Amino acid sequence: MTERRPRTSVADIALVEQPLALHDSFGRHLHYLRVSLTDACNLRCVYCMPEDIRFRPPAELMQDHEVLTLIRVGASLGVDKVRLTGGEPTIRRNVVELVREIRAIPGIQRLAMTTNGIRLEELARPLAEAGLDQVNISIDSLDPEKFRRITRRGELADVWRGIEATEAAGLRPVKLNCVVTRGFNDDEVVELARLTLTHPWEVRFIEVMPFGSVADFQMGQVVPSAETRERIEAALGPLMPVPGHNGHDPARSYQLSGAQGRLGFISSVTAPFCEGCSRLRLTADGRLRLCLLRDDEADLLTPLRAGADFATLQRLMAEAAYRKPWGHRLEAHEFAMSREMSQIGG
Ligand code: SAM
Repeated sequence: MTERRPRTSVADIALVEQPLALHDSFGRHLHYLRVSLTDACNLRCVYCMPEDIRFRPPAELMQDHEVLTLIRVGASLGVDKVRLTGGEPTIRRNVVELVREIRAIPGIQRLAMTTNGIRLEELARPLAEAGLDQVNISIDSLDPEKFRRITRRGELADVWRGIEATEAAGLRPVKLNCVVTRGFNDDEVVELARLTLTHPWEVRFIEVMPFGSVADFQMGQVVPSAETRERIEAALGPLMPVPGHNGHDPARSYQLSGAQGRLGFISSVTAPFCEGCSRLRLTADGRLRLCLLRDDEADLLTPLRAGADFATLQRLMAEAAYRKPWGHRLEAHEFAMSREMSQIGG
């Protein structure tokens, strides 16, 4: 992808001085905040982190009141959707209470979570009762042995029970995320797609993205969405595009004939969707990450801990958002190296 030129200059943007909404220099309106609640995880997926990863000490991570303050700052600037992620968000202490408090923040209209599902059997109902709207559950294989190999420790049965609990708790739509990794699970996409024939779920196939210390490994494992689609169509018949694509949704949606659910394809590497990007990310150590695949960040936690008032935090967030880069530069072999995917949250 070629680097875009900003449409505005800082001088044009009165918003930076009097922030009401978050815009970047390309004119994109940023109203979706993904918040990582922890960099720690109960799995060690091969494409996500090295096996011997060391998690950050708790003192470096945002405390509950700090998470809430920074989301309040975002909401005061027009953030209306929050997704909780990690690491694994469900292993954060007080996650249910945090959900309740985030839901009560004026302006937050949608609160979602991305999780590996391992703890959802016990947590889906309390989370739903606390105000969570929806969950995406990561599941890369339907074969218990392969699932263990990809996650380096997970039990597939736990995830299945988590999916059932999610449905029972009324957290809809159920979206299942599958990162397609060559040589690990690319031979399973048909079976995963088949789930949508009998379940009203959206199964989303994600191209593996290169990051940090595992970037070279990942670039060798990318399976283009076009290849995944062809494989599914060859086995299950034509995929019909679902009309009414929302430009902010990274997934292109399709349906198999007679299916209850949908298929989504997220082609971050082969067909990036930066034009419609409305996202900012808050890492567990309180940095505003401006693009998933670029290292540009703004530290908000240090000023917060140093006593910055609400207006100062608004200004810092708005100025940082303005600097959001257009998108990734994978084609130039520029990889984001400062963090692993697990330290950003996807
Ligand atoms: N632990 C949670 C989970 O498993 O969903 C949330 C964090 S995880 C980093 C968020 C999403 O990023 C998951 O769907 C995961 O499969 C995906 N992911 C991790 N590493 C990736 C990579 N290198 N490329 C593409 N997706 C990745």
